[in-house]
Amino acid sequence: MSTLVATDLDRTLVHSARAAGPDVPGDVLCLEGRRGVPTAMLTRRTAATLGELARRATWVPATTRSVAEFRRLGLGSAVGTTPRYAACASGGVLLVDGAPDPEWEARVRHLLADGAPVAEAADLFARHLARLDPATTGPVRDADDVLLVARVADPDAGWLDELAADCGARGWRVATHGAKVHLLPAGLDKSVAVAEVGERVAAARLLAAGDSPLDAELLLAADAGVQPADGALHGAGWHAPHVAVTRGVGLAAGEEIAAWLLARAAQV
Ligand SMILES: [Mg+2]
Repeated sequence: MSTLVATDLDRTLVHSARAAGPDVPGDVLCLEGRRGVPTAMLTRRTAATLGELARRATWVPATTRSVAEFRRLGLGSAVGTTPRYAACASGGVLLVDGAPDPEWEARVRHLLADGAPVAEAADLFARHLARLDPATTGPVRDADDVLLVARVADPDAGWLDELAADCGARGWRVATHGAKVHLLPAGLDKSVAVAEVGERVAAARLLAAGDSPLDAELLLAADAGVQPADGALHGAGWHAPHVAVTRGVGLAAGEEIAAWLLARAAQV
């Protein structure tokens, strides 16, 4: 039976120094750093488990990272095998053998045509951000012309509601994760890109892992899934009967998630 395994990366399988948790199990591989501080690490055990997972199933990293941010991780060399498919920018880009898939690009362009253009959504976002204390916000960043992200410390519910209403009227939606606010075209999320891969490889079942509100649709679409105990979704009380929760947190949860996925992928 062909199994598709779609996983978020940050705070699910890879962790920054700040999110690493109290127990760092065994050797750690640093994939990315900023000013000498790791921003993405995973344990050697997690890397080895993912390598095995990629041999047993179709493993699709599904990340909010832009293509450039994803490539910077060098995930293939860390786990010893490069996943054929990867969904970046929350599904806005589908990489096939490392290159953006033109068919998927066309699908996303079609989807974007239903709403306001990216530049207009970015202007709208900037206008809403301008109403907040500038000390609490960052600029609007554009990931691959499809996903908009800005840092907002403690976005209040009223401001988010107004932003969501304005976005909704223009075919965009809002997703928050910690101190980041994301704008995505309505109808686009990681699960949509992963479903496309599922069709292409004729997958019979989907396993998934993720930690944030941007992973909720993917976890719901899966036959079985797992979320970390220290994730934002779990912290918000989100749960689903088919989605397990790790015992550990941080890098230890990453190991647990990789092992959980491999054990289930190996069940035929
Ligand atoms: Mg994440």
